Amino acid sequence: MTTTRPSGLTDAFLESLVARVPGSSGATWKLTEVYTGELLVELPQSTPEDIERAFHAARAAQQLWAQWPLKKRLEVFERAHTLLIDNALTTTDLIQAESGKNRRMAIEETCDPPMIISHYLKRAPKVLTPKKHGGPIPFLSSSTEVHVPKGVVGIIAPWNFPFATGLSDAIPALMAGNAVVVKPDNKTALSPLYGISLLEEAGLPKGLFQVVCGEGPDVGPTLIDNADYIMFTGSTATGRVIGERAGRNLIGCCLELGGKNPMVVLDDVNVEEWVESAAFGVFGNTGQICMHIERIYLPESRYDELKDAFVERARNFTIGASYDFGPEIGSLVSPDHRDRVAAHVEDAIAKGATVLTGGKPRPDIGPAFFEPTVLEGVTKDMLAGRTETFGPVVGLYSYRTVDEAVKLANDTDYGLNASVWSGDIARAEAIAERIDSGNVNINDALATAYASKATPSGGVKSSGVGARHGDQGLLKYTDVKNVAVLKKQVLGARPGQDYDAYVKQMLQSLKLMRRLRVR
Ligand code: NAD
Repeated sequence: MTTTRPSGLTDAFLESLVARVPGSSGATWKLTEVYTGELLVELPQSTPEDIERAFHAARAAQQLWAQWPLKKRLEVFERAHTLLIDNALTTTDLIQAESGKNRRMAIEETCDPPMIISHYLKRAPKVLTPKKHGGPIPFLSSSTEVHVPKGVVGIIAPWNFPFATGLSDAIPALMAGNAVVVKPDNKTALSPLYGISLLEEAGLPKGLFQVVCGEGPDVGPTLIDNADYIMFTGSTATGRVIGERAGRNLIGCCLELGGKNPMVVLDDVNVEEWVESAAFGVFGNTGQICMHIERIYLPESRYDELKDAFVERARNFTIGASYDFGPEIGSLVSPDHRDRVAAHVEDAIAKGATVLTGGKPRPDIGPAFFEPTVLEGVTKDMLAGRTETFGPVVGLYSYRTVDEAVKLANDTDYGLNASVWSGDIARAEAIAERIDSGNVNINDALATAYASKATPSGGVKSSGVGARHGDQGLLKYTDVKNVAVLKKQVLGARPGQDYDAYVKQMLQSLKLMRRLRVR
Protein backbone atom coordinates (compact mmCIF):
# COMPACT_ATOMS: atom_id res chain seq x y z
CA MET A 1 0.00 0.00 0.00
CA THR A 2 1.30 3.47 -0.89
CA THR A 3 0.70 5.69 2.09
CA THR A 4 3.37 8.20 1.04
CA ARG A 5 1.89 11.38 -0.38
CA PRO A 6 2.06 11.36 -4.21
CA SER A 7 5.24 13.06 -5.42
CA GLY A 8 3.25 15.40 -7.69
CA LEU A 9 1.64 17.13 -4.71
CA THR A 10 4.64 19.36 -4.00
CA ASP A 11 4.42 22.40 -1.75
CA ALA A 12 4.97 24.63 -4.79
CA PHE A 13 2.09 23.00 -6.69
CA LEU A 14 -0.31 23.25 -3.73
CA GLU A 15 0.68 26.87 -3.08
CA SER A 16 0.09 27.71 -6.75
CA LEU A 17 -3.45 26.32 -6.43
CA VAL A 18 -4.41 28.34 -3.36
CA ALA A 19 -2.82 31.51 -4.77
CA ARG A 20 -6.08 32.38 -6.54
CA VAL A 21 -8.05 32.49 -3.26
CA PRO A 22 -8.32 36.10 -2.00
CA GLY A 23 -7.37 36.56 1.66
CA SER A 24 -6.57 40.20 2.34
CA SER A 25 -6.59 39.81 6.15
CA GLY A 26 -3.75 37.30 5.99
CA ALA A 27 -5.82 34.74 7.91
CA THR A 28 -5.36 31.15 6.76
CA TRP A 29 -6.85 27.73 7.47
CA LYS A 30 -4.63 24.68 7.87
CA LEU A 31 -5.64 22.26 5.12
CA THR A 32 -4.39 18.82 6.12
CA GLU A 33 -3.83 15.41 4.56
CA VAL A 34 -6.57 13.25 6.06
CA TYR A 35 -4.57 10.00 6.21
CA THR A 36 -1.86 11.53 8.39
CA GLY A 37 -3.22 14.80 9.78
CA GLU A 38 -0.13 16.58 8.35
CA LEU A 39 -0.34 20.11 6.96
CA LEU A 40 -0.73 20.27 3.18
CA VAL A 41 -1.08 24.02 2.68
CA GLU A 42 -2.25 27.22 4.39
CA LEU A 43 -5.55 28.15 2.73
CA PRO A 44 -6.31 31.92 2.58
CA GLN A 45 -9.60 32.94 4.19
CA SER A 46 -11.64 35.53 2.32
CA THR A 47 -13.04 38.62 4.05
CA PRO A 48 -16.42 40.15 3.11
CA GLU A 49 -14.50 42.80 1.10
CA ASP A 50 -12.58 40.05 -0.75
CA ILE A 51 -15.88 38.38 -1.60
CA GLU A 52 -17.38 41.62 -2.88
CA ARG A 53 -14.31 42.19 -5.05
CA ALA A 54 -14.58 38.62 -6.40
CA PHE A 55 -18.19 39.30 -7.42
CA HIS A 56 -17.23 42.61 -8.98
CA ALA A 57 -14.55 40.93 -11.14
CA ALA A 58 -16.87 38.03 -11.99
CA ARG A 59 -19.61 40.46 -13.06
CA ALA A 60 -17.23 42.34 -15.36
CA ALA A 61 -16.03 39.08 -16.96
CA GLN A 62 -19.62 37.84 -17.30
CA GLN A 63 -20.70 40.87 -19.36
CA LEU A 64 -18.18 39.89 -22.04
CA TRP A 65 -18.69 36.12 -21.75
CA ALA A 66 -22.47 36.41 -22.24
CA GLN A 67 -21.78 38.11 -25.57
CA TRP A 68 -19.76 35.18 -26.88
CA PRO A 69 -21.86 33.10 -29.27
CA LEU A 70 -22.99 29.88 -27.55
CA LYS A 71 -20.93 27.82 -30.01
CA LYS A 72 -17.75 29.63 -29.00
CA ARG A 73 -18.54 29.19 -25.30
CA LEU A 74 -19.13 25.48 -25.80
CA GLU A 75 -15.78 25.09 -27.61
CA VAL A 76 -14.07 25.89 -24.31
CA PHE A 77 -15.80 22.89 -22.76
CA GLU A 78 -14.87 20.61 -25.68
CA ARG A 79 -11.23 21.32 -24.81
CA ALA A 80 -11.90 21.12 -21.06
CA HIS A 81 -13.39 17.63 -21.47
CA THR A 82 -10.07 16.37 -22.82
CA LEU A 83 -7.96 18.22 -20.25
CA LEU A 84 -10.01 16.98 -17.30
CA ILE A 85 -9.61 13.38 -18.46
CA ASP A 86 -5.91 13.72 -19.33
CA ASN A 87 -5.20 15.09 -15.84
CA ALA A 88 -7.56 12.80 -13.93
CA LEU A 89 -4.79 11.11 -11.94
CA THR A 90 -3.50 14.40 -10.50
CA THR A 91 -7.08 15.27 -9.58
CA THR A 92 -7.43 11.84 -7.97
CA ASP A 93 -4.32 12.44 -5.84
CA LEU A 94 -5.69 15.80 -4.68
CA ILE A 95 -9.13 14.40 -3.87
CA GLN A 96 -7.60 11.56 -1.87
CA ALA A 97 -5.20 13.80 0.05
CA GLU A 98 -7.87 16.32 1.10
CA SER A 99 -10.84 13.96 1.67
CA GLY A 100 -9.20 10.66 2.70
CA LYS A 101 -11.44 8.62 0.40
CA ASN A 102 -10.11 5.49 -1.28
CA ARG A 103 -8.69 5.61 -4.80
CA ARG A 104 -11.62 3.96 -6.57
CA MET A 105 -14.02 6.61 -5.28
CA ALA A 106 -11.59 9.42 -6.08
CA ILE A 107 -11.04 8.37 -9.70
CA GLU A 108 -14.78 7.83 -10.15
CA GLU A 109 -15.37 11.33 -8.83
CA THR A 110 -13.09 12.78 -11.53
CA CYS A 111 -15.44 11.31 -14.17
CA ASP A 112 -18.40 13.45 -13.13
CA PRO A 113 -17.45 16.82 -14.70
CA PRO A 114 -16.55 15.23 -18.08
CA MET A 115 -19.90 13.38 -18.04
CA ILE A 116 -21.70 16.65 -17.33
CA ILE A 117 -19.77 18.44 -20.08
CA SER A 118 -20.52 15.68 -22.56
CA HIS A 119 -24.24 15.76 -21.78
CA TYR A 120 -24.63 19.53 -21.98
CA LEU A 121 -22.45 19.89 -25.08
CA LYS A 122 -25.13 17.84 -26.77
CA ARG A 123 -28.11 19.41 -25.04
CA ALA A 124 -27.25 23.10 -24.50
CA PRO A 125 -27.69 24.20 -28.14
CA LYS A 126 -31.22 22.76 -28.17
CA VAL A 127 -32.18 24.07 -24.73
CA LEU A 128 -30.66 27.55 -24.93
CA THR A 129 -31.61 28.46 -28.51
CA PRO A 130 -34.60 30.87 -28.45
CA LYS A 131 -37.88 29.08 -29.17
CA LYS A 132 -40.60 30.75 -31.19
CA HIS A 133 -44.16 29.99 -30.07
CA GLY A 134 -47.44 31.17 -31.52
CA GLY A 135 -48.94 34.33 -29.98
CA PRO A 136 -52.57 34.78 -28.86
CA ILE A 137 -53.76 35.74 -32.37
CA PRO A 138 -52.86 33.09 -34.92
CA PHE A 139 -50.62 34.34 -37.76
CA LEU A 140 -50.70 37.93 -36.51
CA SER A 141 -48.70 37.46 -33.34
CA SER A 142 -45.80 35.44 -31.98
CA SER A 143 -43.95 34.99 -28.73
CA THR A 144 -40.33 33.91 -28.37
CA GLU A 145 -38.89 32.25 -25.28
CA VAL A 146 -35.36 33.57 -24.75
CA HIS A 147 -33.13 32.25 -21.97
CA VAL A 148 -30.79 34.88 -20.60
CA PRO A 149 -28.10 34.17 -18.00
CA LYS A 150 -28.88 35.05 -14.39
CA GLY A 151 -25.56 36.90 -14.01
CA VAL A 152 -23.26 35.65 -11.26
CA VAL A 153 -24.12 32.30 -9.70
CA GLY A 154 -22.89 31.56 -6.17
CA ILE A 155 -22.08 27.91 -5.51
CA ILE A 156 -21.58 26.51 -2.01
CA ALA A 157 -20.11 23.01 -2.06
CA PRO A 158 -19.57 20.26 0.55
CA TRP A 159 -16.51 18.14 1.24
CA ASN A 160 -17.78 14.69 0.31
CA PHE A 161 -17.49 15.12 -3.48
CA PRO A 162 -15.54 18.37 -3.64
CA PHE A 163 -14.41 18.13 -7.26
CA ALA A 164 -17.78 16.99 -8.58
CA THR A 165 -19.90 19.47 -6.63
CA GLY A 166 -17.40 22.31 -7.10
CA LEU A 167 -17.17 21.89 -10.87
CA SER A 168 -20.14 19.94 -12.22
CA ASP A 169 -22.75 22.39 -10.96
CA ALA A 170 -20.72 25.31 -12.32
CA ILE A 171 -20.40 23.90 -15.84
CA PRO A 172 -24.04 24.36 -16.98
CA ALA A 173 -24.09 27.79 -15.28
CA LEU A 174 -21.04 28.86 -17.30
CA MET A 175 -22.36 27.34 -20.54
CA ALA A 176 -25.55 29.38 -20.08
CA GLY A 177 -23.46 32.58 -20.00
CA ASN A 178 -23.06 33.17 -16.26
CA ALA A 179 -20.02 33.82 -14.12
CA VAL A 180 -19.52 31.69 -10.99
CA VAL A 181 -18.20 32.36 -7.50
CA VAL A 182 -17.68 29.08 -5.69
CA LYS A 183 -17.13 28.50 -1.98
CA PRO A 184 -15.71 25.02 -1.45
CA ASP A 185 -15.43 23.52 2.01
CA ASN A 186 -12.14 24.61 3.62
CA LYS A 187 -11.11 20.97 4.02
CA THR A 188 -11.43 20.16 0.33
CA ALA A 189 -10.63 23.31 -1.65
CA LEU A 190 -7.69 21.86 -3.61
CA SER A 191 -9.38 19.67 -6.20
CA PRO A 192 -11.92 22.31 -7.29
CA LEU A 193 -9.11 24.88 -7.50
CA TYR A 194 -7.18 22.52 -9.75
CA GLY A 195 -10.27 21.89 -11.90
CA ILE A 196 -10.76 25.63 -12.39
CA SER A 197 -7.14 25.99 -13.53
CA LEU A 198 -7.84 23.28 -16.15
CA LEU A 199 -10.97 25.09 -17.34
CA GLU A 200 -8.87 28.25 -17.77
CA GLU A 201 -6.23 26.27 -19.65
CA ALA A 202 -9.07 25.20 -21.95
CA GLY A 203 -9.86 28.86 -22.66
CA LEU A 204 -12.32 29.95 -19.96
CA PRO A 205 -11.76 33.71 -19.59
CA LYS A 206 -9.79 34.68 -16.48
CA GLY A 207 -11.96 36.17 -13.74
CA LEU A 208 -15.12 34.38 -14.83
CA PHE A 209 -14.81 31.57 -12.27
CA GLN A 210 -13.86 32.95 -8.85
CA VAL A 211 -13.14 31.05 -5.64
CA VAL A 212 -13.62 32.37 -2.12
CA CYS A 213 -12.83 30.38 1.02
CA GLY A 214 -13.80 30.49 4.66
CA GLU A 215 -16.08 28.96 7.22
CA GLY A 216 -19.66 28.82 5.95
CA PRO A 217 -21.29 31.25 8.40
CA ASP A 218 -18.49 33.81 7.75
CA VAL A 219 -18.60 33.66 3.95
CA GLY A 220 -22.23 32.67 3.33
CA PRO A 221 -24.08 35.95 3.98
CA THR A 222 -21.86 38.13 1.73
CA LEU A 223 -21.83 35.46 -0.96
CA ILE A 224 -25.62 35.11 -1.00
CA ASP A 225 -26.20 38.88 -0.84
CA ASN A 226 -24.06 39.43 -3.96
CA ALA A 227 -25.28 36.48 -6.03
CA ASP A 228 -28.07 36.33 -8.61
CA TYR A 229 -28.72 32.64 -7.90
CA ILE A 230 -27.46 30.14 -5.32
CA MET A 231 -26.61 26.50 -5.93
CA PHE A 232 -26.10 24.81 -2.56
CA THR A 233 -25.15 21.25 -1.74
CA GLY A 234 -24.85 20.27 1.91
CA SER A 235 -26.79 19.45 5.01
CA THR A 236 -30.49 20.09 5.51
CA ALA A 237 -29.78 22.38 8.48
CA THR A 238 -27.50 24.65 6.41
CA GLY A 239 -29.88 24.44 3.44
CA ARG A 240 -32.61 26.05 5.53
CA VAL A 241 -30.28 28.97 6.41
CA ILE A 242 -29.30 29.45 2.76
CA GLY A 243 -32.88 29.16 1.49
CA GLU A 244 -34.12 31.74 3.99
CA ARG A 245 -31.53 34.30 2.94
CA ALA A 246 -32.02 33.67 -0.77
CA GLY A 247 -35.77 34.08 -0.26
CA ARG A 248 -35.29 37.39 1.52
CA ASN A 249 -33.14 38.59 -1.39
CA LEU A 250 -35.73 37.31 -3.91
CA ILE A 251 -33.17 35.23 -5.76
CA GLY A 252 -33.66 31.63 -6.82
CA CYS A 253 -31.82 28.76 -5.24
CA CYS A 254 -31.35 25.06 -5.69
CA LEU A 255 -30.82 23.12 -2.45
CA GLU A 256 -29.38 19.60 -2.65
CA LEU A 257 -29.51 18.29 0.92
CA GLY A 258 -29.18 15.21 3.09
CA GLY A 259 -30.97 11.87 3.09
CA LYS A 260 -31.83 8.82 5.21
CA ASN A 261 -32.07 6.58 2.21
CA PRO A 262 -33.95 3.25 2.36
CA MET A 263 -33.39 0.04 0.39
CA VAL A 264 -36.33 -2.34 0.05
CA VAL A 265 -35.31 -5.89 -0.86
CA LEU A 266 -38.08 -8.16 -2.20
CA ASP A 267 -38.32 -11.87 -1.51
CA ASP A 268 -37.34 -12.90 -5.07
CA VAL A 269 -33.94 -11.16 -5.00
CA ASN A 270 -30.76 -12.84 -6.24
CA VAL A 271 -28.55 -12.69 -3.18
CA GLU A 272 -25.18 -12.66 -5.02
CA GLU A 273 -26.16 -9.76 -7.28
CA TRP A 274 -27.73 -7.85 -4.44
CA VAL A 275 -25.08 -8.18 -1.75
CA GLU A 276 -22.18 -6.56 -3.61
CA SER A 277 -24.22 -3.61 -4.85
CA ALA A 278 -25.91 -3.12 -1.49
CA ALA A 279 -22.56 -3.16 0.32
CA PHE A 280 -21.21 -0.52 -2.06
CA GLY A 281 -24.41 1.51 -1.63
CA VAL A 282 -23.87 1.57 2.12
CA PHE A 283 -20.09 1.73 2.49
CA GLY A 284 -18.87 3.35 -0.77
CA ASN A 285 -17.00 6.62 -0.08
CA THR A 286 -16.97 5.41 3.56
CA GLY A 287 -20.72 6.09 3.69
CA GLN A 288 -20.27 9.77 2.84
CA ILE A 289 -22.50 9.86 -0.26
CA CYS A 290 -25.69 11.86 0.03
CA MET A 291 -27.54 9.05 -1.79
CA HIS A 292 -25.99 6.19 0.19
CA ILE A 293 -28.20 3.67 1.94
CA GLU A 294 -28.69 3.92 5.73
CA ARG A 295 -31.74 1.63 6.13
CA ILE A 296 -32.21 -1.83 4.58
CA TYR A 297 -35.61 -3.53 4.73
CA LEU A 298 -35.39 -7.32 4.26
CA PRO A 299 -38.32 -9.76 3.84
CA GLU A 300 -38.95 -11.78 6.98
CA SER A 301 -38.99 -14.99 4.90
CA ARG A 302 -35.35 -14.51 3.87
CA TYR A 303 -34.11 -12.25 6.64
CA ASP A 304 -31.44 -14.53 8.12
CA GLU A 305 -30.00 -15.56 4.75
CA LEU A 306 -29.76 -11.98 3.43
CA LYS A 307 -28.51 -10.59 6.73
CA ASP A 308 -25.74 -13.21 6.97
CA ALA A 309 -24.59 -12.53 3.38
CA PHE A 310 -24.54 -8.78 3.96
CA VAL A 311 -22.75 -8.92 7.32
CA GLU A 312 -20.17 -11.31 5.86
CA ARG A 313 -19.46 -8.87 3.00
CA ALA A 314 -19.21 -5.91 5.40
CA ARG A 315 -16.81 -7.82 7.64
CA ASN A 316 -14.49 -8.62 4.73
CA PHE A 317 -13.92 -5.10 3.42
CA THR A 318 -10.29 -4.05 3.31
CA ILE A 319 -9.77 -0.68 5.01
CA GLY A 320 -6.64 1.40 4.60
CA ALA A 321 -4.82 4.67 4.02
CA SER A 322 -3.41 4.32 0.56
CA TYR A 323 -2.91 6.19 -2.69
CA ASP A 324 -3.18 2.95 -4.67
CA PHE A 325 -6.18 0.79 -5.48
CA GLY A 326 -5.66 -1.62 -2.55
CA PRO A 327 -8.19 -0.68 0.14
CA GLU A 328 -11.89 -0.92 -0.64
CA ILE A 329 -12.72 1.56 2.12
CA GLY A 330 -10.91 4.79 2.94
CA SER A 331 -11.07 7.26 5.79
CA LEU A 332 -13.84 9.54 6.97
CA VAL A 333 -13.12 13.18 6.16
CA SER A 334 -11.98 14.32 9.63
CA PRO A 335 -11.68 13.32 13.28
CA ASP A 336 -14.71 15.58 13.97
CA HIS A 337 -16.81 13.62 11.52
CA ARG A 338 -15.51 10.31 12.93
CA ASP A 339 -16.75 11.49 16.36
CA ARG A 340 -20.21 12.25 14.92
CA VAL A 341 -20.44 8.79 13.36
CA ALA A 342 -19.20 7.17 16.57
CA ALA A 343 -21.79 9.14 18.57
CA HIS A 344 -24.60 7.75 16.39
CA VAL A 345 -23.37 4.18 16.93
CA GLU A 346 -22.86 4.67 20.69
CA ASP A 347 -26.32 6.21 21.04
CA ALA A 348 -27.87 3.27 19.17
CA ILE A 349 -26.07 0.73 21.39
CA ALA A 350 -27.06 2.59 24.55
CA LYS A 351 -30.71 2.50 23.46
CA GLY A 352 -30.71 -1.22 22.68
CA ALA A 353 -29.40 -1.75 19.13
CA THR A 354 -27.10 -4.69 18.38
CA VAL A 355 -23.82 -4.36 16.47
CA LEU A 356 -23.57 -7.20 13.94
CA THR A 357 -20.14 -6.11 12.74
CA GLY A 358 -17.85 -3.06 13.12
CA GLY A 359 -18.86 -0.24 15.42
CA LYS A 360 -15.47 1.23 16.28
CA PRO A 361 -13.00 3.91 15.17
CA ARG A 362 -9.67 2.62 13.80
CA PRO A 363 -6.93 5.00 15.05
CA ASP A 364 -4.40 2.26 14.22
CA ILE A 365 -4.97 3.06 10.50
CA GLY A 366 -5.34 6.83 10.66
CA PRO A 367 -6.92 9.65 12.65
CA ALA A 368 -10.40 9.47 11.04
CA PHE A 369 -11.01 5.82 10.14
CA PHE A 370 -14.17 3.98 11.23
CA GLU A 371 -15.16 0.35 10.66
CA PRO A 372 -17.97 -0.68 8.30
CA THR A 373 -20.80 -1.12 10.78
CA VAL A 374 -24.05 -3.09 10.56
CA LEU A 375 -26.71 -2.57 13.24
CA GLU A 376 -29.90 -4.43 14.06
CA GLY A 377 -32.73 -3.23 16.28
CA VAL A 378 -32.39 0.45 15.37
CA THR A 379 -35.46 2.47 16.35
CA LYS A 380 -36.59 6.01 15.66
CA ASP A 381 -35.67 7.25 19.13
CA MET A 382 -32.02 6.66 18.19
CA LEU A 383 -29.96 9.23 16.24
CA ALA A 384 -29.09 6.55 13.68
CA GLY A 385 -32.77 5.73 13.31
CA ARG A 386 -34.02 9.15 12.26
CA THR A 387 -31.17 11.51 11.26
CA GLU A 388 -28.50 11.17 8.62
CA THR A 389 -25.35 9.48 9.98
CA PHE A 390 -23.35 10.07 6.79
CA GLY A 391 -20.87 7.34 7.59
CA PRO A 392 -20.29 3.59 7.11
CA VAL A 393 -23.26 2.60 9.24
CA VAL A 394 -26.50 0.88 8.27
CA GLY A 395 -29.51 -0.56 10.09
CA LEU A 396 -31.12 -3.84 8.98
CA TYR A 397 -34.88 -4.23 9.45
CA SER A 398 -37.31 -7.08 8.78
CA TYR A 399 -40.72 -6.60 7.15
CA ARG A 400 -43.71 -8.94 6.63
CA THR A 401 -45.67 -7.38 3.76
CA VAL A 402 -44.68 -5.11 0.90
CA ASP A 403 -47.15 -2.50 2.18
CA GLU A 404 -45.31 -2.50 5.49
CA ALA A 405 -41.95 -2.13 3.72
CA VAL A 406 -43.21 0.87 1.72
CA LYS A 407 -44.62 2.46 4.88
CA LEU A 408 -41.32 2.00 6.72
CA ALA A 409 -39.29 3.32 3.76
CA ASN A 410 -41.45 6.46 3.70
CA ASP A 411 -41.31 6.94 7.47
CA THR A 412 -38.71 9.72 7.32
CA ASP A 413 -38.47 13.48 6.88
CA TYR A 414 -36.05 12.94 3.99
CA GLY A 415 -36.63 11.96 0.36
CA LEU A 416 -33.41 11.94 -1.60
CA ASN A 417 -32.76 8.39 -2.78
CA ALA A 418 -34.25 4.93 -2.43
CA SER A 419 -33.41 1.52 -3.81
CA VAL A 420 -35.68 -1.43 -4.63
CA TRP A 421 -34.37 -4.92 -5.39
CA SER A 422 -36.33 -7.66 -7.14
CA GLY A 423 -35.96 -10.36 -9.79
CA ASP A 424 -39.09 -8.86 -11.35
CA ILE A 425 -38.49 -5.31 -12.61
CA ALA A 426 -42.21 -4.54 -13.07
CA ARG A 427 -42.83 -5.48 -9.44
CA ALA A 428 -39.97 -3.22 -8.32
CA GLU A 429 -41.25 -0.36 -10.51
CA ALA A 430 -44.67 -0.57 -8.88
CA ILE A 431 -43.02 -0.16 -5.48
CA ALA A 432 -40.78 2.66 -6.75
CA GLU A 433 -43.94 4.61 -7.60
CA ARG A 434 -45.05 4.44 -3.98
CA ILE A 435 -41.80 5.63 -2.42
CA ASP A 436 -41.56 9.36 -1.70
CA SER A 437 -38.12 10.10 -3.06
CA GLY A 438 -36.49 12.26 -5.72
CA ASN A 439 -34.50 9.25 -6.97
CA VAL A 440 -35.31 5.54 -6.91
CA ASN A 441 -32.75 3.02 -8.15
CA ILE A 442 -34.05 -0.39 -9.16
CA ASN A 443 -31.53 -3.22 -8.75
CA ASP A 444 -28.83 -0.70 -7.95
CA ALA A 445 -28.15 1.38 -4.85
CA LEU A 446 -27.45 4.87 -6.16
CA ALA A 447 -25.08 5.24 -9.12
CA THR A 448 -27.53 4.56 -11.95
CA ALA A 449 -29.77 7.49 -11.04
CA TYR A 450 -26.87 9.85 -10.36
CA ALA A 451 -25.07 9.00 -13.58
CA SER A 452 -28.21 9.46 -15.71
CA LYS A 453 -27.35 13.03 -16.60
CA ALA A 454 -30.35 13.58 -18.90
CA THR A 455 -32.83 13.18 -16.04
CA PRO A 456 -33.22 15.85 -13.34
CA SER A 457 -32.05 14.58 -9.95
CA GLY A 458 -32.97 16.22 -6.65
CA GLY A 459 -34.56 15.60 -3.29
CA VAL A 460 -38.11 15.93 -1.98
CA LYS A 461 -39.33 16.67 1.58
CA SER A 462 -36.35 17.81 3.71
CA SER A 463 -33.86 16.60 1.10
CA GLY A 464 -34.05 19.67 -1.04
CA VAL A 465 -35.58 22.06 -3.50
CA GLY A 466 -34.92 21.93 -7.24
CA ALA A 467 -32.66 19.57 -9.15
CA ARG A 468 -29.39 19.19 -11.00
CA HIS A 469 -28.97 17.39 -14.35
CA GLY A 470 -31.43 17.30 -17.24
CA ASP A 471 -32.72 20.43 -18.99
CA GLN A 472 -33.80 21.76 -15.60
CA GLY A 473 -30.15 21.66 -14.44
CA LEU A 474 -29.27 24.14 -17.19
CA LEU A 475 -32.41 26.26 -17.37
CA LYS A 476 -32.37 27.03 -13.64
CA TYR A 477 -29.33 29.24 -14.31
CA THR A 478 -31.32 31.40 -16.74
CA ASP A 479 -34.15 33.88 -16.60
CA VAL A 480 -36.75 33.55 -19.26
CA LYS A 481 -37.59 36.57 -21.39
CA ASN A 482 -40.86 36.47 -23.30
CA VAL A 483 -40.41 38.58 -26.45
CA ALA A 484 -43.87 39.00 -27.99
CA VAL A 485 -44.66 40.52 -31.41
CA LEU A 486 -48.02 41.80 -32.61
CA LYS A 487 -48.01 42.41 -36.36
CA LYS A 488 -51.34 44.21 -36.53
CA GLN A 489 -53.44 46.03 -33.90
CA VAL A 490 -56.50 43.81 -33.74
CA LEU A 491 -56.70 42.99 -30.02
CA GLY A 492 -59.36 44.46 -27.73
CA ALA A 493 -62.55 46.45 -28.16
CA ARG A 494 -62.48 49.73 -30.13
CA PRO A 495 -64.26 52.90 -28.96
CA GLY A 496 -67.87 52.90 -30.21
CA GLN A 497 -67.81 49.17 -30.94
CA ASP A 498 -70.88 47.04 -30.25
CA TYR A 499 -69.76 45.25 -27.05
CA ASP A 500 -72.28 42.43 -27.42
CA ALA A 501 -70.86 41.65 -30.86
CA TYR A 502 -67.32 41.95 -29.52
CA VAL A 503 -67.96 39.50 -26.69
CA LYS A 504 -69.65 37.04 -29.04
CA GLN A 505 -66.83 37.29 -31.56
CA MET A 506 -64.18 36.79 -28.86
CA LEU A 507 -65.86 33.77 -27.28
CA GLN A 508 -66.57 32.17 -30.65
CA SER A 509 -62.97 32.60 -31.72
CA LEU A 510 -61.87 30.77 -28.53
CA LYS A 511 -64.05 27.83 -29.55
CA LEU A 512 -62.82 27.96 -33.13
CA MET A 513 -59.17 28.01 -32.06
CA ARG A 514 -59.80 25.03 -29.78
CA ARG A 515 -61.43 23.15 -32.66
CA LEU A 516 -58.55 23.97 -34.98
CA ARG A 517 -56.18 23.15 -32.10
CA VAL A 518 -54.43 26.50 -32.58
CA ARG A 519 -54.64 27.31 -28.84
P1 NAD B 1 -22.70 21.52 5.51
O1 NAD B 1 -24.09 21.98 5.29
O2 NAD B 1 -22.15 21.59 6.87
O3 NAD B 1 -21.68 22.33 4.58
C1 NAD B 1 -21.84 22.40 3.18
C2 NAD B 1 -21.19 23.70 2.71
O4 NAD B 1 -21.91 24.78 3.27
C3 NAD B 1 -19.74 23.87 3.16
O5 NAD B 1 -19.01 24.53 2.16
C4 NAD B 1 -19.88 24.76 4.38
O6 NAD B 1 -18.72 25.53 4.64
C5 NAD B 1 -21.02 25.65 3.95
N1 NAD B 1 -21.76 26.27 5.04
C6 NAD B 1 -21.95 25.83 6.30
N2 NAD B 1 -22.69 26.71 7.00
C7 NAD B 1 -22.99 27.73 6.15
C8 NAD B 1 -23.72 28.94 6.27
N3 NAD B 1 -24.33 29.28 7.41
N4 NAD B 1 -23.81 29.75 5.19
C9 NAD B 1 -23.22 29.40 4.03
N5 NAD B 1 -22.51 28.28 3.85
C10 NAD B 1 -22.40 27.45 4.90
O7 NAD B 1 -22.64 20.04 4.94
P2 NAD B 1 -21.38 19.08 4.92
O8 NAD B 1 -21.30 18.42 6.25
O9 NAD B 1 -20.20 19.78 4.39
O10 NAD B 1 -21.80 18.04 3.81
C11 NAD B 1 -22.46 16.88 4.09
C12 NAD B 1 -23.93 17.06 3.81
O11 NAD B 1 -24.13 17.35 2.44
C13 NAD B 1 -24.70 15.79 4.06
O12 NAD B 1 -25.90 16.11 4.70
C14 NAD B 1 -24.98 15.26 2.66
O13 NAD B 1 -26.10 14.43 2.57
C15 NAD B 1 -25.15 16.52 1.90
N6 NAD B 1 -24.94 16.33 0.47
C16 NAD B 1 -26.02 16.38 -0.36
C17 NAD B 1 -25.86 16.15 -1.73
C18 NAD B 1 -27.04 16.17 -2.64
O14 NAD B 1 -26.84 16.22 -3.84
N7 NAD B 1 -28.26 16.14 -2.14
C19 NAD B 1 -24.58 15.88 -2.24
C20 NAD B 1 -23.50 15.86 -1.38
C21 NAD B 1 -23.69 16.09 -0.01
